Amino acid sequence: MNMSIYVEKLLSMGAAADVLMSRMTTFKIGGKADLFIEPSNSRELQEILSVAKEGQIPVTVIGGGSNLLVSDNGVEGLVIRIGDKMSAVEQVGNVFSVGAGILLSSLTKETIRRGYMGLEWAGGIPGRLGGAVAMNAGAYGYEIKPLLSSVEYIENGEVCSKKVEDADMGYRKSIFAQNNRIVVSAVIELLKDDGGAKDRMIEMNNKRKNSQPLAYPSAGSVFKRPEGYFAGKLVEDANLKGVSVGGAQVSEKHAGFIINTGSATCKDVLDLIAHIKKTVFEKDGVMLEEEVRFIGRKM
Ligand SMILES: Cc1cc2nc3c(=O)[nH]c(=O)nc-3n(C[C@H](O)[C@H](O)[C@H](O)COP(=O)(O)OP(=O)(O)OC[C@H]3O[C@@H](n4cnc5c(N)ncnc54)[C@H](O)[C@@H]3O)c2cc1C
Repeated sequence: MNMSIYVEKLLSMGAAADVLMSRMTTFKIGGKADLFIEPSNSRELQEILSVAKEGQIPVTVIGGGSNLLVSDNGVEGLVIRIGDKMSAVEQVGNVFSVGAGILLSSLTKETIRRGYMGLEWAGGIPGRLGGAVAMNAGAYGYEIKPLLSSVEYIENGEVCSKKVEDADMGYRKSIFAQNNRIVVSAVIELLKDDGGAKDRMIEMNNKRKNSQPLAYPSAGSVFKRPEGYFAGKLVEDANLKGVSVGGAQVSEKHAGFIINTGSATCKDVLDLIAHIKKTVFEKDGVMLEEEVRFIGRKM
């Protein structure tokens, strides 16, 4: 990319150039980001955003990269990962103020270790808290929303806070995934462990291991649950299990997942998604909608 003074500034602030996004996603797919950086705190993030804005450098935010399909042509501009460097956990009684970069699995284990319950269902989700808040992640009838009291985020360079009831959180959506907002921390309220939290987490993690193709790279469920149906069941009933395009394959274990059998490209996955949507629509009249987020240059 053009070595403007702004790019040089971002490099001097710790950004790396030409970073392979396949290393940053659980799908293990994606070309290079022009620039990649992981801030250590909100203030640093604000400085990074200010330089990017001045230099008119497009910004894309990611967390664990576990719900992402990244273009083979890479990502223009700057990818900001809210990750381990922003994962502090502060606790006052049953109220936890947590950095958005913490892995959900680490947060779940840590809160159980401290004697609290509520996150057991999230122990096996490979995302980070910011991504889970933005997507309103959920599993086994639970979701993150009821545990949240407020969320701190950056919008137009300013640190803002929102109560969860004002955040329009619904099935796999929230205002935090819109308008380039970046979640930096969240306040979560948990209950005292009734003594069963660890066992429940283990049970739900085992359920995942038995039903999901965790031995292969993927981005989890590819499609949202259509009203009145299950996406995986629709895909299975359309005889699509095992169908593949290049290195992308509809999982034999869970038809809602597309797995990367080793050499899948983004194009393979997009072509397979298009084939699934067309086949299911022709059979059942249901138009599946992607849960997985596409980022990067046009394909
Ligand atoms: C094996 C497997 C199992 C899964 N199981 C589940 C499940 O049971 N339930 C479920 O809900 N999901 C599941 N997922 C999907 C995924 O883990 C969740 O959606 C997760 O919450 C995404 O978090 P992330 O940090 O990986 O976000 P990313 O994938 O990095 O990003 C997802 C979206 O969130 C945005 N985002 C990320 N971080 C921030 C931030 N700090 N501020 C603002 N926006 C942000 C990104 O821009 C993007 O639009 C699964 C995925 C895999 C691979």
